Amino acid sequence: MLRFAPSPTGDMHIGNLRVAIFNYIVAKQKNEKLLIRIEDTDKERNIEGKDKEILEILDIFGIKYDQVVYQSSNFHIHREMAKRLLDNKKAFVCFCNEDEIAVEREKAKIEKRPYRYSGKCEYLDSKEIEKKIKHKKPFVIRLKKSEKPVKFSDLIKGEMEFSPFDIDSFVIMRADLTPTYNFACAVDDMLYDISLVIRGEDHLSNTPKQIAIRKALGYDKEIEYAHLPIILNEEGKKMSKRDNASSVKWLLKEGFLPEAIANYLILLGNSFEKEVFTLEEAVEFFDLSKISRAPAKFDIDKLKFLNKEHMKKLNNLAKRFGVNEIYEGLLQIFKDESDTLKEIKEKFDMVFEKCEDEEFKNEREIIKKEILENELEENYDEFKKHIQTNTGLKGKKLFMPLRELLINQKHGAEIKDLYKTMRPYLKEVIKTR
Ligand code: GLU
Repeated sequence: MLRFAPSPTGDMHIGNLRVAIFNYIVAKQKNEKLLIRIEDTDKERNIEGKDKEILEILDIFGIKYDQVVYQSSNFHIHREMAKRLLDNKKAFVCFCNEDEIAVEREKAKIEKRPYRYSGKCEYLDSKEIEKKIKHKKPFVIRLKKSEKPVKFSDLIKGEMEFSPFDIDSFVIMRADLTPTYNFACAVDDMLYDISLVIRGEDHLSNTPKQIAIRKALGYDKEIEYAHLPIILNEEGKKMSKRDNASSVKWLLKEGFLPEAIANYLILLGNSFEKEVFTLEEAVEFFDLSKISRAPAKFDIDKLKFLNKEHMKKLNNLAKRFGVNEIYEGLLQIFKDESDTLKEIKEKFDMVFEKCEDEEFKNEREIIKKEILENELEENYDEFKKHIQTNTGLKGKKLFMPLRELLINQKHGAEIKDLYKTMRPYLKEVIKTR
Protein backbone atom coordinates (compact mmCIF):
# COMPACT_ATOMS: atom_id res chain seq x y z
CA MET A 1 0.00 0.00 0.00
CA LEU A 2 1.11 3.58 -0.68
CA ARG A 3 0.03 6.58 1.30
CA PHE A 4 -0.42 10.30 1.11
CA ALA A 5 -0.18 11.83 4.58
CA PRO A 6 -1.20 15.48 4.67
CA SER A 7 -1.42 17.51 7.86
CA PRO A 8 -4.67 19.49 8.17
CA THR A 9 -2.76 22.55 9.25
CA GLY A 10 -3.09 24.90 6.28
CA ASP A 11 -3.93 25.32 2.62
CA MET A 12 -2.64 22.53 0.46
CA HIS A 13 0.76 23.43 -0.98
CA ILE A 14 1.59 22.48 -4.57
CA GLY A 15 4.48 20.44 -3.16
CA ASN A 16 1.95 18.33 -1.25
CA LEU A 17 -0.25 17.99 -4.26
CA ARG A 18 2.75 16.84 -6.25
CA VAL A 19 3.41 14.19 -3.60
CA ALA A 20 -0.25 13.10 -3.79
CA ILE A 21 -0.10 12.88 -7.58
CA PHE A 22 3.07 10.80 -7.60
CA ASN A 23 1.69 8.46 -4.95
CA TYR A 24 -1.47 8.05 -7.00
CA ILE A 25 0.44 7.33 -10.21
CA VAL A 26 2.84 4.86 -8.63
CA ALA A 27 0.09 3.06 -6.69
CA LYS A 28 -1.73 2.59 -9.99
CA GLN A 29 1.40 1.42 -11.75
CA LYS A 30 2.17 -1.10 -9.02
CA ASN A 31 -1.45 -2.06 -8.69
CA GLU A 32 -1.35 -1.22 -5.00
CA LYS A 33 -3.85 0.58 -2.83
CA LEU A 34 -3.59 4.22 -1.86
CA LEU A 35 -4.26 5.31 1.71
CA ILE A 36 -4.95 8.89 2.70
CA ARG A 37 -3.72 9.47 6.21
CA ILE A 38 -4.75 12.75 7.78
CA GLU A 39 -1.91 13.54 10.17
CA ASP A 40 -3.87 15.32 12.85
CA THR A 41 -1.69 14.51 15.86
CA ASP A 42 -0.68 18.09 16.61
CA LYS A 43 -3.96 19.41 17.99
CA GLU A 44 -2.75 22.96 18.29
CA ARG A 45 -1.81 23.25 14.66
CA ASN A 46 -4.88 21.51 13.21
CA ILE A 47 -7.29 23.84 11.44
CA GLU A 48 -10.90 22.84 11.37
CA GLY A 49 -12.18 21.92 7.94
CA LYS A 50 -8.76 21.55 6.30
CA ASP A 51 -9.11 17.76 6.24
CA LYS A 52 -12.30 18.02 4.17
CA GLU A 53 -10.68 20.62 1.96
CA ILE A 54 -7.75 18.29 1.25
CA LEU A 55 -10.09 15.45 0.31
CA GLU A 56 -12.07 17.81 -1.92
CA ILE A 57 -8.89 18.88 -3.69
CA LEU A 58 -7.94 15.25 -4.28
CA ASP A 59 -11.38 14.71 -5.84
CA ILE A 60 -11.03 17.81 -8.01
CA PHE A 61 -7.74 16.44 -9.33
CA GLY A 62 -9.14 12.95 -9.94
CA ILE A 63 -6.84 11.39 -7.36
CA LYS A 64 -8.77 8.32 -6.30
CA TYR A 65 -7.92 6.54 -3.06
CA ASP A 66 -8.99 3.42 -1.25
CA GLN A 67 -9.14 4.47 2.37
CA VAL A 68 -8.97 7.52 4.62
CA VAL A 69 -7.68 7.31 8.19
CA TYR A 70 -7.26 9.97 10.81
CA GLN A 71 -4.01 9.40 12.60
CA SER A 72 -5.53 10.42 15.94
CA SER A 73 -7.79 7.38 15.79
CA ASN A 74 -4.66 5.27 16.32
CA PHE A 75 -3.49 7.07 19.44
CA HIS A 76 -4.21 4.00 21.58
CA ILE A 77 -1.92 1.93 19.36
CA HIS A 78 0.83 4.55 19.48
CA ARG A 79 0.66 4.44 23.28
CA GLU A 80 0.75 0.68 23.28
CA MET A 81 3.83 0.70 21.04
CA ALA A 82 5.57 3.29 23.19
CA LYS A 83 4.93 1.13 26.22
CA ARG A 84 6.40 -1.84 24.40
CA LEU A 85 9.55 0.14 23.65
CA LEU A 86 9.83 1.18 27.30
CA ASP A 87 9.36 -2.40 28.46
CA ASN A 88 12.06 -3.57 26.08
CA LYS A 89 14.40 -0.77 27.16
CA LYS A 90 14.49 0.66 23.68
CA ALA A 91 13.03 3.89 24.96
CA PHE A 92 13.23 5.82 28.20
CA VAL A 93 11.20 8.37 30.08
CA CYS A 94 12.67 11.84 30.25
CA PHE A 95 11.75 14.40 32.88
CA CYS A 96 13.83 17.26 31.52
CA ASN A 97 11.48 20.18 31.28
CA GLU A 98 11.17 22.59 28.40
CA ASP A 99 13.16 25.33 30.12
CA GLU A 100 16.08 23.02 30.72
CA ILE A 101 16.07 21.92 27.09
CA ALA A 102 15.77 25.52 25.92
CA VAL A 103 18.90 26.45 27.88
CA GLU A 104 20.81 23.58 26.29
CA ARG A 105 19.60 24.54 22.85
CA GLU A 106 20.73 28.10 23.42
CA LYS A 107 24.11 26.92 24.61
CA ALA A 108 24.53 24.78 21.51
CA LYS A 109 23.60 27.74 19.36
CA ILE A 110 26.22 29.95 21.01
CA GLU A 111 28.83 27.23 20.62
CA LYS A 112 27.78 26.86 16.99
CA ARG A 113 27.08 23.14 17.22
CA PRO A 114 23.83 21.27 16.60
CA TYR A 115 21.77 20.68 19.72
CA ARG A 116 21.65 17.11 20.92
CA TYR A 117 19.89 15.67 23.96
CA SER A 118 22.24 15.48 26.96
CA GLY A 119 21.30 11.91 27.85
CA LYS A 120 20.52 13.01 31.40
CA CYS A 121 17.47 10.81 31.95
CA GLU A 122 18.61 7.77 30.02
CA TYR A 123 19.96 5.91 33.02
CA LEU A 124 17.55 6.92 35.78
CA ASP A 125 16.83 3.93 37.97
CA SER A 126 13.32 2.59 38.16
CA LYS A 127 12.74 3.69 41.75
CA GLU A 128 13.58 7.25 40.91
CA ILE A 129 11.28 7.12 37.90
CA GLU A 130 8.41 5.75 39.96
CA LYS A 131 8.87 8.44 42.55
CA LYS A 132 8.78 11.24 39.98
CA ILE A 133 5.74 9.77 38.30
CA LYS A 134 4.00 9.47 41.67
CA HIS A 135 4.67 13.16 42.22
CA LYS A 136 3.05 13.88 38.86
CA LYS A 137 6.23 15.19 37.33
CA PRO A 138 5.55 15.52 33.60
CA PHE A 139 7.65 13.40 31.28
CA VAL A 140 8.16 12.61 27.62
CA ILE A 141 9.36 9.36 26.10
CA ARG A 142 12.52 9.26 24.01
CA LEU A 143 13.78 6.54 21.73
CA LYS A 144 17.26 5.46 22.75
CA LYS A 145 19.88 6.59 20.32
CA SER A 146 20.67 3.74 17.93
CA GLU A 147 24.09 2.17 18.17
CA LYS A 148 24.76 1.84 14.48
CA PRO A 149 24.24 4.25 11.62
CA VAL A 150 20.96 3.92 9.77
CA LYS A 151 21.32 3.33 6.05
CA PHE A 152 18.72 3.29 3.36
CA SER A 153 18.57 3.60 -0.35
CA ASP A 154 16.35 6.37 -1.62
CA LEU A 155 14.83 5.85 -5.07
CA ILE A 156 15.63 9.43 -6.03
CA LYS A 157 18.48 10.54 -3.78
CA GLY A 158 20.46 7.29 -3.81
CA GLU A 159 22.35 5.79 -0.85
CA MET A 160 21.80 7.59 2.44
CA GLU A 161 23.50 7.14 5.77
CA PHE A 162 22.77 8.82 9.10
CA SER A 163 24.92 8.44 12.21
CA PRO A 164 23.53 7.85 15.73
CA PHE A 165 24.59 11.43 16.43
CA ASP A 166 22.38 12.65 13.58
CA ILE A 167 19.46 10.63 14.86
CA ASP A 168 19.90 11.37 18.58
CA SER A 169 17.64 10.20 21.45
CA PHE A 170 14.55 11.93 20.16
CA VAL A 171 11.08 12.35 21.63
CA ILE A 172 8.46 9.85 20.51
CA MET A 173 5.67 10.66 23.01
CA ARG A 174 4.85 14.12 24.27
CA ALA A 175 3.99 14.93 27.87
CA ASP A 176 0.27 14.87 27.01
CA LEU A 177 0.72 11.27 25.87
CA THR A 178 0.24 12.05 22.21
CA PRO A 179 2.79 10.72 19.72
CA THR A 180 5.19 12.99 17.89
CA TYR A 181 5.02 13.15 14.12
CA ASN A 182 7.94 10.74 13.67
CA PHE A 183 6.52 8.15 16.01
CA ALA A 184 2.95 8.21 14.70
CA CYS A 185 4.22 8.15 11.14
CA ALA A 186 6.66 5.28 11.69
CA VAL A 187 4.09 3.17 13.53
CA ASP A 188 1.30 3.85 11.04
CA ASP A 189 3.48 3.08 8.04
CA MET A 190 4.08 -0.27 9.71
CA LEU A 191 0.43 -0.83 10.68
CA TYR A 192 -0.87 -0.22 7.19
CA ASP A 193 1.86 -2.26 5.56
CA ILE A 194 3.18 0.62 3.50
CA SER A 195 5.60 -0.58 0.82
CA LEU A 196 6.86 2.72 -0.54
CA VAL A 197 6.85 6.21 0.96
CA ILE A 198 6.89 9.06 -1.55
CA ARG A 199 7.18 12.45 0.11
CA GLY A 200 8.97 15.77 0.01
CA GLU A 201 12.69 15.93 0.67
CA ASP A 202 12.08 18.14 3.70
CA HIS A 203 11.36 14.82 5.43
CA LEU A 204 14.66 13.22 4.48
CA SER A 205 16.18 13.66 7.94
CA ASN A 206 13.06 12.15 9.54
CA THR A 207 13.45 8.92 7.62
CA PRO A 208 16.34 7.45 9.70
CA LYS A 209 14.33 8.25 12.84
CA GLN A 210 11.31 6.43 11.50
CA ILE A 211 13.42 3.48 10.42
CA ALA A 212 15.04 3.41 13.88
CA ILE A 213 11.60 3.33 15.53
CA ARG A 214 10.43 0.39 13.48
CA LYS A 215 13.70 -1.45 14.05
CA ALA A 216 13.31 -0.95 17.78
CA LEU A 217 9.79 -2.37 17.50
CA GLY A 218 11.19 -5.41 15.76
CA TYR A 219 9.59 -4.71 12.39
CA ASP A 220 11.86 -6.20 9.76
CA LYS A 221 10.06 -5.41 6.56
CA GLU A 222 11.90 -2.77 4.62
CA ILE A 223 9.93 0.19 3.40
CA GLU A 224 11.21 1.90 0.26
CA TYR A 225 11.60 5.66 0.15
CA ALA A 226 11.51 8.31 -2.54
CA HIS A 227 12.09 11.90 -1.47
CA LEU A 228 11.03 14.45 -4.04
CA PRO A 229 13.12 17.56 -4.67
CA ILE A 230 11.64 20.77 -3.35
CA ILE A 231 9.96 23.37 -5.52
CA LEU A 232 11.65 26.75 -5.73
CA ASN A 233 9.98 30.05 -6.47
CA GLU A 234 10.99 32.29 -9.35
CA GLU A 235 13.74 33.82 -7.20
CA GLY A 236 15.23 30.40 -6.52
CA LYS A 237 14.06 30.25 -2.89
CA LYS A 238 11.96 27.49 -1.40
CA MET A 239 8.35 28.12 -2.32
CA SER A 240 6.58 29.16 0.82
CA LYS A 241 3.12 30.22 1.92
CA ARG A 242 4.07 33.74 0.97
CA ASP A 243 4.18 32.74 -2.69
CA ASN A 244 0.53 32.79 -3.76
CA ALA A 245 1.17 30.23 -6.45
CA SER A 246 2.21 27.71 -3.80
CA SER A 247 -1.42 27.32 -2.75
CA VAL A 248 -3.49 24.87 -4.76
CA LYS A 249 -6.65 26.72 -3.78
CA TRP A 250 -5.20 29.98 -5.09
CA LEU A 251 -4.24 28.44 -8.42
CA LEU A 252 -7.74 27.02 -8.84
CA LYS A 253 -9.26 30.37 -7.95
CA GLU A 254 -7.01 32.05 -10.50
CA GLY A 255 -8.59 29.85 -13.13
CA PHE A 256 -5.97 27.19 -13.72
CA LEU A 257 -7.51 23.86 -14.62
CA PRO A 258 -6.78 20.90 -12.36
CA GLU A 259 -5.70 18.97 -15.49
CA ALA A 260 -3.14 21.67 -16.28
CA ILE A 261 -1.85 21.98 -12.71
CA ALA A 262 -1.40 18.20 -12.48
CA ASN A 263 0.31 18.15 -15.88
CA TYR A 264 2.61 20.94 -14.75
CA LEU A 265 3.53 19.33 -11.43
CA ILE A 266 4.39 16.03 -13.12
CA LEU A 267 6.44 17.78 -15.77
CA LEU A 268 8.20 20.13 -13.37
CA GLY A 269 11.94 19.52 -13.49
CA ASN A 270 11.53 16.48 -15.74
CA SER A 271 11.59 15.86 -19.42
CA PHE A 272 9.30 13.47 -21.19
CA GLU A 273 8.63 12.83 -24.85
CA LYS A 274 5.49 14.91 -24.68
CA GLU A 275 4.70 17.95 -22.60
CA VAL A 276 0.95 18.02 -22.64
CA PHE A 277 -0.76 15.06 -21.04
CA THR A 278 -3.42 14.02 -18.55
CA LEU A 279 -2.88 12.36 -15.19
CA GLU A 280 -4.12 9.06 -16.55
CA GLU A 281 -1.75 9.29 -19.52
CA ALA A 282 1.12 9.92 -17.11
CA VAL A 283 0.35 6.59 -15.43
CA GLU A 284 1.43 4.98 -18.71
CA PHE A 285 4.88 6.52 -19.02
CA PHE A 286 5.92 8.06 -15.69
CA ASP A 287 9.03 6.57 -14.10
CA LEU A 288 9.65 7.59 -10.51
CA SER A 289 13.27 6.48 -10.56
CA LYS A 290 14.02 8.81 -13.46
CA ILE A 291 12.75 12.02 -12.00
CA SER A 292 15.22 14.82 -11.65
CA ARG A 293 17.18 15.11 -8.40
CA ALA A 294 17.64 18.84 -8.71
CA PRO A 295 15.18 21.26 -7.12
CA ALA A 296 12.65 22.45 -9.65
CA LYS A 297 11.87 26.07 -10.29
CA PHE A 298 8.24 27.11 -10.50
CA ASP A 299 7.47 28.87 -13.76
CA ILE A 300 4.01 30.42 -13.99
CA ASP A 301 4.38 31.05 -17.73
CA LYS A 302 4.87 27.38 -18.36
CA LEU A 303 1.79 26.65 -16.28
CA LYS A 304 -0.13 29.21 -18.35
CA PHE A 305 1.02 27.54 -21.53
CA LEU A 306 -0.20 24.16 -20.30
CA ASN A 307 -3.42 25.70 -19.08
CA LYS A 308 -4.08 27.10 -22.54
CA GLU A 309 -3.42 23.69 -24.02
CA HIS A 310 -5.86 21.99 -21.68
CA MET A 311 -8.43 24.76 -22.12
CA LYS A 312 -8.53 23.97 -25.84
CA LYS A 313 -10.47 20.84 -24.96
CA LEU A 314 -13.21 22.74 -23.15
CA ASN A 315 -16.29 23.06 -25.31
CA ASN A 316 -19.01 23.79 -22.78
CA LEU A 317 -17.78 26.92 -21.09
CA ALA A 318 -21.30 28.38 -20.74
CA LYS A 319 -22.29 25.42 -18.60
CA ARG A 320 -19.08 25.65 -16.60
CA PHE A 321 -19.72 29.32 -15.83
CA GLY A 322 -23.45 28.78 -15.33
CA VAL A 323 -24.50 31.21 -18.07
CA ASN A 324 -26.94 30.92 -20.98
CA GLU A 325 -25.77 28.61 -23.78
CA ILE A 326 -26.31 31.42 -26.25
CA TYR A 327 -22.96 32.84 -25.07
CA GLU A 328 -20.87 29.75 -25.83
CA GLY A 329 -19.50 31.21 -29.07
CA LEU A 330 -18.38 34.41 -27.36
CA LEU A 331 -16.77 32.48 -24.51
CA GLN A 332 -14.88 30.38 -27.04
CA ILE A 333 -13.52 33.54 -28.65
CA PHE A 334 -12.36 34.83 -25.25
CA LYS A 335 -10.86 31.43 -24.52
CA ASP A 336 -8.55 31.70 -27.51
CA GLU A 337 -7.02 34.88 -26.16
CA SER A 338 -6.88 33.96 -22.45
CA ASP A 339 -4.47 32.02 -20.28
CA THR A 340 -6.92 31.12 -17.53
CA LEU A 341 -10.60 30.52 -16.87
CA LYS A 342 -10.62 33.61 -14.68
CA GLU A 343 -9.42 35.73 -17.57
CA ILE A 344 -12.19 34.38 -19.80
CA LYS A 345 -14.80 35.11 -17.15
CA GLU A 346 -13.49 38.61 -16.55
CA LYS A 347 -13.67 39.40 -20.26
CA PHE A 348 -17.15 37.94 -20.41
CA ASP A 349 -18.41 39.90 -17.38
CA MET A 350 -17.05 43.10 -18.86
CA VAL A 351 -19.35 42.66 -21.84
CA PHE A 352 -22.31 43.40 -19.59
CA GLU A 353 -20.85 46.45 -17.92
CA LYS A 354 -21.13 50.08 -18.90
CA CYS A 355 -18.24 51.34 -21.02
CA GLU A 356 -16.19 53.95 -19.19
CA ASP A 357 -13.82 54.93 -21.97
CA GLU A 358 -14.05 58.65 -22.72
CA GLU A 359 -11.91 58.64 -25.86
CA PHE A 360 -14.56 57.25 -28.20
CA LYS A 361 -17.65 58.29 -26.30
CA ASN A 362 -19.17 60.29 -29.14
CA GLU A 363 -18.36 57.74 -31.79
CA ARG A 364 -19.91 55.05 -29.61
CA GLU A 365 -23.12 57.05 -29.31
CA ILE A 366 -23.34 57.54 -33.05
CA ILE A 367 -22.76 53.86 -33.85
CA LYS A 368 -25.01 52.72 -31.04
CA LYS A 369 -27.91 54.73 -32.38
CA GLU A 370 -27.33 53.32 -35.85
CA ILE A 371 -27.30 49.75 -34.57
CA LEU A 372 -30.34 50.09 -32.37
CA GLU A 373 -32.45 51.73 -35.04
CA ASN A 374 -31.81 49.23 -37.81
CA GLU A 375 -32.12 45.55 -38.63
CA LEU A 376 -28.81 43.77 -38.13
CA GLU A 377 -27.47 42.34 -41.37
CA GLU A 378 -26.58 38.68 -41.29
CA ASN A 379 -23.34 39.30 -43.10
CA TYR A 380 -20.67 41.26 -41.27
CA ASP A 381 -19.28 42.97 -44.37
CA GLU A 382 -22.71 44.34 -45.22
CA PHE A 383 -23.16 45.50 -41.64
CA LYS A 384 -19.77 47.21 -41.71
CA LYS A 385 -20.52 48.93 -44.99
CA HIS A 386 -23.85 50.18 -43.71
CA ILE A 387 -22.36 51.57 -40.47
CA GLN A 388 -19.50 53.17 -42.35
CA THR A 389 -21.81 54.82 -44.87
CA ASN A 390 -24.36 56.05 -42.38
CA THR A 391 -21.96 57.33 -39.72
CA GLY A 392 -19.09 58.51 -41.91
CA LEU A 393 -16.65 56.96 -39.44
CA LYS A 394 -13.72 54.92 -40.57
CA GLY A 395 -10.43 53.33 -39.43
CA LYS A 396 -9.61 53.56 -35.76
CA LYS A 397 -12.58 55.82 -35.11
CA LEU A 398 -14.90 53.14 -36.37
CA PHE A 399 -13.32 49.93 -35.15
CA MET A 400 -12.31 50.90 -31.65
CA PRO A 401 -15.71 52.24 -30.57
CA LEU A 402 -17.40 49.38 -32.38
CA ARG A 403 -15.35 46.82 -30.47
CA GLU A 404 -16.15 48.73 -27.30
CA LEU A 405 -19.82 48.48 -28.10
CA LEU A 406 -19.50 44.77 -28.62
CA ILE A 407 -17.25 43.67 -25.79
CA ASN A 408 -16.32 46.81 -23.86
CA GLN A 409 -12.67 46.63 -24.96
CA LYS A 410 -10.71 48.70 -27.45
CA HIS A 411 -8.44 45.85 -28.45
CA GLY A 412 -9.09 42.18 -28.71
CA ALA A 413 -10.78 39.62 -30.86
CA GLU A 414 -11.70 40.13 -34.50
CA ILE A 415 -14.87 42.19 -34.78
CA LYS A 416 -16.03 39.97 -37.58
CA ASP A 417 -15.96 36.87 -35.35
CA LEU A 418 -17.56 38.73 -32.48
CA TYR A 419 -20.34 40.07 -34.69
CA LYS A 420 -21.13 36.66 -36.04
CA THR A 421 -21.64 35.07 -32.65
CA MET A 422 -23.14 38.10 -30.88
CA ARG A 423 -25.67 39.13 -33.51
CA PRO A 424 -28.69 37.45 -31.86
CA TYR A 425 -28.19 39.39 -28.62
CA LEU A 426 -26.10 42.30 -29.81
CA LYS A 427 -28.81 44.94 -29.37
CA GLU A 428 -29.43 43.86 -25.78
CA VAL A 429 -25.73 44.16 -25.00
CA ILE A 430 -25.34 47.49 -26.72
CA LYS A 431 -28.27 49.02 -24.84
CA THR A 432 -26.26 48.74 -21.63
CA ARG A 433 -23.32 50.71 -23.03
N1 GLU B 1 2.28 15.14 7.43
C1 GLU B 1 3.48 15.29 6.73
C2 GLU B 1 3.41 16.51 5.87
O1 GLU B 1 2.34 16.99 5.58
C3 GLU B 1 3.73 14.12 5.80
C4 GLU B 1 4.85 13.35 6.18
C5 GLU B 1 4.98 12.05 5.49
O2 GLU B 1 4.57 11.89 4.34
O3 GLU B 1 5.50 11.16 6.13
O4 GLU B 1 4.43 17.03 5.47
